[in-house]
Amino acid sequence: MSNNFDWAPKPWTKAPATPVWTQYFKQANPTPVFQKDDLRACTAPGKIWGATFDDGPSPATHGLLDYFRTINMHTTFYTVGSVAIKYPEVLLQTYQAGHEIGVHTWSHPLLTKLSDDEIVAELIYSAKTIYQLTGQAPKYIRPPFGGSDDRVRRIANSMGLTVVGFVDTEDWKHWDSKAKMQPVVTGHFKEWIKNGVTGLITLQHDVWAAEVEVGKEAMDLLVKAGYTVKPVYECLGAVLEGFFKSGQFEEKWNVVAPYVEKVVTVTPNNGTSGNLNMKPVPAKVVVSAPVETTVRSGALLISLPSLFAVVVGYLIL
Ligand SMILES: [Zn+2]
Repeated sequence: MSNNFDWAPKPWTKAPATPVWTQYFKQANPTPVFQKDDLRACTAPGKIWGATFDDGPSPATHGLLDYFRTINMHTTFYTVGSVAIKYPEVLLQTYQAGHEIGVHTWSHPLLTKLSDDEIVAELIYSAKTIYQLTGQAPKYIRPPFGGSDDRVRRIANSMGLTVVGFVDTEDWKHWDSKAKMQPVVTGHFKEWIKNGVTGLITLQHDVWAAEVEVGKEAMDLLVKAGYTVKPVYECLGAVLEGFFKSGQFEEKWNVVAPYVEKVVTVTPNNGTSGNLNMKPVPAKVVVSAPVETTVRSGALLISLPSLFAVVVGYLIL
């Protein structure tokens, strides 16, 4: 684990806008899957629950890690980058215990009020913290205050992130009093259990000891009622199936990429690096492509009107 965070903005200051990053994702992923709303429910079958804990890590997080170890289940922690660099070992232990780590931004702003570039930076710096500590790039983001809209989702999606919403347990309203928090939070869970609700993605926190204590009690209500608590990425098991059924895949094939290089120069592998069995290719290929070139899903399918020509110098050995 590297504890060197000299690249990091000051904790709790807005991550600095970096327009080239926004540009990168626009070009790397010009037609991201459209996510029309935040995910709020697990779609995998069975009596499952998507418990999530936000705003950590903190020293109190250990209480949840110990609890989840005893019941042999896992959950999701949405981490604030500014906080994670303060408790990097807790974040790493959380990951190593098998829990999912998601993005909860760098400085916990309301994303809908930020510019595109600022949103990208908030997500990047938090994701960088997670990536540096765990070696794993996160896949999900929980917007602070539940604040998201089509623009926030589109930006997150372009970065390969999916926005996860929540059903509130209201633990944060009584963060300083376990006596007040406990009946509110467990009251919600008792009601859900009584009504046979399954698959909710609920919001709790792991900053204060009271939140963690009540969090454990709430999880225990679920476990005793026969539920399995799962990390979000697992409890959304049917999302991919839903995607194929939604027609999104087919729609993508009708989309013409908005940005295309007019001249694409390809330098073939000369055999000095990479695959040693590859024979050297002697010539350069220069393709003069028309403006209306259609690029589909990474596979290069180029349509060339007769007006333009391929400059031939290509010899396959
Ligand atoms: Zn939060």
